[in-house]
Amino acid sequence: MSGMKNQVNRVVSLNRLPVRQLRLLKQIGRLADEQGMSVYLVGGVVRDLLLKRENWDLDLTIEGDGIAFARLVADRYKAGLAVFDRFATARLVFPDGLKVDIATTRRESYAQPADLPTVQPASIEEDLSRRDFTINAIAVQLNQRQFGRLLDPYAGQRDLRARTIRVLHAGSFQDDPTRIFRAIRFEQRFGFHLERTTLRLLAQAASTNLIQQLSGPRLQNEILLLLAERDPARAISRLAQLKLFRFLPRSLSYTKNVKRTVTAVPKALAWWARRFPDSAIDRPIVYLMALSSEASQAVVATMIRRLALSREQAKKVSTGRRRVDRALKRLTDRKIARPSQAYRLLEDFSNEALVLLLAKQVSMQQGVRLSLLRRRLVAYMKNRTTKTALTGRDLQAMGLQPGPQYKTILGKLLDARIDGVVTTEADERALAHRLLKKSVLVIRER
Ligand code: ATP
Repeated sequence: MSGMKNQVNRVVSLNRLPVRQLRLLKQIGRLADEQGMSVYLVGGVVRDLLLKRENWDLDLTIEGDGIAFARLVADRYKAGLAVFDRFATARLVFPDGLKVDIATTRRESYAQPADLPTVQPASIEEDLSRRDFTINAIAVQLNQRQFGRLLDPYAGQRDLRARTIRVLHAGSFQDDPTRIFRAIRFEQRFGFHLERTTLRLLAQAASTNLIQQLSGPRLQNEILLLLAERDPARAISRLAQLKLFRFLPRSLSYTKNVKRTVTAVPKALAWWARRFPDSAIDRPIVYLMALSSEASQAVVATMIRRLALSREQAKKVSTGRRRVDRALKRLTDRKIARPSQAYRLLEDFSNEALVLLLAKQVSMQQGVRLSLLRRRLVAYMKNRTTKTALTGRDLQAMGLQPGPQYKTILGKLLDARIDGVVTTEADERALAHRLLKKSVLVIRER
């Protein structure tokens, strides 16, 4: 750490931050002065300030008792407070919604590789030394007299200028294999490159069973964060290139077709967002679906288990290649004429599955079929909220005995509505009567 001292003197201007954040940081600096504590801005926001990228997630760390300090700030500014004792961190939520995370500077030790670390208080320098990459290991002091003073013991600024991702020590990926995915995430997001030794260490770590030791939720978190990046296609290719698809017990294959689908997802998402701005999409899940779009049900099931996906996510991801392909084939065929047919093909598809459908068609580069599919999706989304005027109760009043007939008849009424064959309640009643007569006949004939 002897090289450290000559790197600490530079001062960075925090004026790029919004006024509200800047004022708060100054107030916090003065409050820390009163307590005789040192306070620092750390993590991604510092990196992004230096990169001139917008990021207003304020991460602070206190040399001293971070949680006690967070309580003080919460009292003074009437902020809400959540404390996470295990990690010696606290989150403040100010009345105007601004959030600030406060931690205690700490040292971490790893009982087992890939475990969560145990935590002990330590100096800011030690706190920076446990971080993932040099560009994320820069701190800015906030105490009034040192406001803006940079601490950069690992030459993170040099690496920012050189557009390089570099670990702080050779055991970094062993300590925490999630850093493998973080490295790729930052590399692709910023268009940086992995420094040579770091790349070698990463490849080495990836070739062992380290990643297998990561728990499902931790692996899920990393994968979904990677897939939440603005354009994950390159990061996915990088994963494949570094043989990181091994993160699943039975490896997914990143075939040409899968790659084409993944690459088409942004276009499908953009169209969806323009057309249906109110129908939210879980983007990372669409990418996960695209990634597994050629996999068998068994591989998808393994993936769901390995990533410990929630029930809802799992349901979306398991829509199934056969159903998607069948829907796609029929919906791009001029022969299906009735809107209700499209409705029935798609009725239990999630929005994410619809986007996947679209991405698959985009990737096939058949313009005419793509516009047909788009028109049918627009119609489907409108029909999705269509309801029949009659209900089961009405059928009962017409004398129908409870049974599976209800579903059939109500289904036919809905189809007729969607196809514009009936438009009023009277139309529906007339149709219901006709269907009832028929169904009674069918019953009698048996
Ligand atoms: P993003 O812009 O994606 O939020 P970030 O750098 O802010 O990036 P966080 O996950 O919020 O990422 O982490 C905040 C900081 O905590 C990082 O900048 C880094 O210093 C440290 N950190 C986070 N995860 C790790 C890790 N796995 N190992 C070591 N340090 C980490």
